[in-house]
Amino acid sequence: MGSSHFDLTIIGAGIIGLATAMEMAERYPRVKLLLLEKENQIARHQTGHNSGVIHGGIYYKPGSLKAETCVVGRKALLEL
Ligand SMILES: Cc1cc2nc3c(=O)[nH]c(=O)nc-3n(C[C@H](O)[C@H](O)[C@H](O)COP(=O)(O)OP(=O)(O)OC[C@H]3O[C@@H](n4cnc5c(N)ncnc54)[C@H](O)[C@@H]3O)c2cc1C
Repeated sequence: MGSSHFDLTIIGAGIIGLATAMEMAERYPRVKLLLLEKENQIARHQTGHNSGVIHGGIYYKPGSLKAETCVVGRKALLEL
């Protein structure tokens, strides 16, 4: 099947590609999505080799975008 059969291609099945694919599929269920990964399994690079720390945002300037996304992301990750 050629790439013209898909509406959206995401390259890389680490946490960013996978999370993007999940969110796009939820928001736009009719969109034909292609997720490409060069390895034979998902999460073979950084995503599968990190320290497993969920950052709480305490090291960032209060009210900054980084601090805010840490708080929102931590909550979303725990819910997931
Ligand atoms: C040692 C270490 C410890 C860490 N500890 C933490 C932590 O405790 N907490 C935390 O929140 N973050 C941590 N991080 C950061 C976190 O792991 C990364 O920010 C995150 O995993 C990056 O995800 P990613 O999807 O962007 O990249 P990756 O997980 O690297 O995914 C990229 C994917 O793209 C694929 N790819 C690349 N090029 C192509 C191509 N041309 N075609 C197809 N596929 C391709 C790769 O094979 C890979 O699967 C750590 C990182 C490291 C390295």
